[in-house]
Amino acid sequence: MEQDEAKIVTVYSAIIITFACPYCGAPVEIRSEVPPKDDFRSPCPHCGRDSLVKLNRRAAYRKSVSLPISYSLSDISDPFDKLAKRGTMLDISKGGLRIEAPLSRFCDAYEKTGHSMTLLFSLPPREQVIRVRAKVVGIFPCPGGKFHMAMQFVDIAEHQRKAINFFLMP
Ligand SMILES: [Zn+2]
Repeated sequence: MEQDEAKIVTVYSAIIITFACPYCGAPVEIRSEVPPKDDFRSPCPHCGRDSLVKLNRRAAYRKSVSLPISYSLSDISDPFDKLAKRGTMLDISKGGLRIEAPLSRFCDAYEKTGHSMTLLFSLPPREQVIRVRAKVVGIFPCPGGKFHMAMQFVDIAEHQRKAINFFLMP
């Protein structure tokens, strides 16, 4: 019976899981205390239809952090450039990261899915500034007057990839 067949989305397990509803395209964000270990069903808050959320078990360990990060549509190289916007990095994996920032600074023409940004951040204990290009893959309003921006790395230099991988080592 077709109405019993939930569409499948595949995600990496994390404390915050985000995906686009496969029916209506609305952003869905699921928060839990610990990353889920098993696949689960999730109703879309917008259209109410169930998705089957499958966990991708290959790769992509996501590390939870709370680190300052600068982002910009411009090609900046100084984190305090006047063209930089600032937020907090919430987590990072080999493939991307998530930024939290106040909704009061949100601009829907700027923080927009599909936009490419320059990101500048440091990963402790090193102080070297890592600069990568990343694409916005999701924007999620959050309680408390904040929003989350999910970013996927594009064009990442080898030494910066190594610095990120080093930071992600358990
Ligand atoms: Zn939906």
